[in-house]
Amino acid sequence: MNNNKNRLALEGGSPTIDNKLPSIKDKSGRQIDTKELEEVKSVLESGTLSYLYGNKVKKFEKLFAAKFGIKYAFAVSSGTAALHTAMVYLNPEPGDEIIMSPISDMGSVIPILYQLAVPVFVDIDPKTQNIDPELIESKITKRTKGIIVTHIYGNAADMNPIMKIAKKYNIFVIEDCAQAHLTMYHGRYVGTIGDMGCFSLQQSKHITTGDGGMVISHQNKQFQRDIRLCTDKGWPREKKVRDHYFLAPAYHMTELQGAVGIAQIEKYDNCINNRRKTAKMLDELIDKNESVQLICELPDTIGTYFLYCFRLNPAYFKVNIQKIVEALNKEGLPCEQGYPGNIPLYLYPVIKDKKTFGTSGWPFDMPHNENNYSYSEGLCPEAEKACEETIVLPWTEGYEDKHVYLIADAINKVIRAYEK
Ligand SMILES: *Cc1c(COP(=O)(O)O)cnc(C)c1O
Repeated sequence: MNNNKNRLALEGGSPTIDNKLPSIKDKSGRQIDTKELEEVKSVLESGTLSYLYGNKVKKFEKLFAAKFGIKYAFAVSSGTAALHTAMVYLNPEPGDEIIMSPISDMGSVIPILYQLAVPVFVDIDPKTQNIDPELIESKITKRTKGIIVTHIYGNAADMNPIMKIAKKYNIFVIEDCAQAHLTMYHGRYVGTIGDMGCFSLQQSKHITTGDGGMVISHQNKQFQRDIRLCTDKGWPREKKVRDHYFLAPAYHMTELQGAVGIAQIEKYDNCINNRRKTAKMLDELIDKNESVQLICELPDTIGTYFLYCFRLNPAYFKVNIQKIVEALNKEGLPCEQGYPGNIPLYLYPVIKDKKTFGTSGWPFDMPHNENNYSYSEGLCPEAEKACEETIVLPWTEGYEDKHVYLIADAINKVIRAYEK
């Protein structure tokens, strides 16, 4: 019996976790209840599904802005749409450069490419897995127009040095907070520190409207562009006659999503507190040593654990990381190798092979570009290593103490079995 307990499930032992863990994919790990149902019902009963004529999206925007203590919030159709809205607002010249970390969702890059700007990748600080501020300055050129700062896994990036550099070179700062709802940096919410904050409300994020996003900003018309127009075909709806001031997509949130958002925002704090409490518990329960290391939070920051990640040092293991992930999965623990996968963003075909517009290779290979852009292995060594060595666990506010004990048991069992 005892023997069987220590034997890995991968090798015929019994799995540590035999009931499915709560998941963000359904009710088991999401706080969706009668509040959402009532809000959505009232929308359907009203017959008004568009934000243009209803008040749910408008109310959701107001609540969101108030939560962050900020002036403007604009609801959109996804996190990628939120970041694209920020790019349309920034309005770079084709070929301008946007600095970012290669450890992020592809949704951080797509908006750059659609605006014909070029992503310039800066390596990460391996301790936090966020962009390393010390490496930013060397990547700045006369084409650098903006920086997208992703707060990865809900862990705050080091905003003070980033803002200092941005000010020095007059660079626009977009915070990608898709994974960092209510994350704190030096007493402020991330998303309120840079020029704009972009959030995702996709199913896996801290609060959700299924799909959706939010853009927040202190200011609306810095570039003589109204942020709302950047989400709505450049169309000033308040004018009596139809008009379109500039090229912009249509990224509206529907009233149905807005209704869900209104109900979700009440659950915001509870969600963050639960995620953090259980994550901190797991921090304590995992056997840490040279072979197993946690991701660091910077001093005076409060992370909100979109995912729970830890790092393995392959030199200390008898098997490769892929095998360890396989063993963890067999123990009943869903997890993956690396984020965003076992390679950083620039090694995916869209960037590496420039699979963009027809066969042009634009914006990377536009005729008037002065730089030759190429993206291959070795570009950001720390990011590449992190993608290989990081174990990524989905996290949810639905976890209770009993789940965390099981998760820790599964991790410690597999680590012990495979450590040299
Ligand atoms: C989820 C995510 C996005 C994109 O959001 P979608 O709603 O999926 O479009 C962008 N950046 C990061 C860091 C994300 O995690």
